[in-house]
Amino acid sequence: MKFIADVMVGKLARWLRVLGLDVVYSSQYDDDEIIRLANAEGRIILTRDTRLAARRHNGRCLLIESDNYKEQLRQVLACFDLKGFNVFSRCLECNRALEDVDKETIFEKVPPYVYLTHERFARCPSCNRVYWHGTHADEMLKQIPL
Ligand SMILES: [Zn+2]
Repeated sequence: MKFIADVMVGKLARWLRVLGLDVVYSSQYDDDEIIRLANAEGRIILTRDTRLAARRHNGRCLLIESDNYKEQLRQVLACFDLKGFNVFSRCLECNRALEDVDKETIFEKVPPYVYLTHERFARCPSCNRVYWHGTHADEMLKQIPL
């Protein structure tokens, strides 16, 4: 299941990426572009815009009700049968699937403490950001209303 989020639900898009879901999002997209991409790539539109939600297009659309990202996340998770999340498998900035990397190769890219205390690292093939599953990740996951 793939999604595309409009500019008003950017924070929601990020959180869905934390869960490993494929969510296209850019503050540059207008309504026409969102509908075009949704149709071309079979994505479900997530929007707070009633006019966008009412426009006719081939795919599915979910009108997000709340202003609050936790409520929004709850709505999406309740609406779709999403299971088996592959958390922290996707770049939060560019939505690309992360690739596992050899610990040695990222030695200069992460703080020494992180390097010494973690074993598994992953890198985004698009922006080269390095991710690791640390305390911050656990704190983020605790906030998710699953
Ligand atoms: Zn990236």
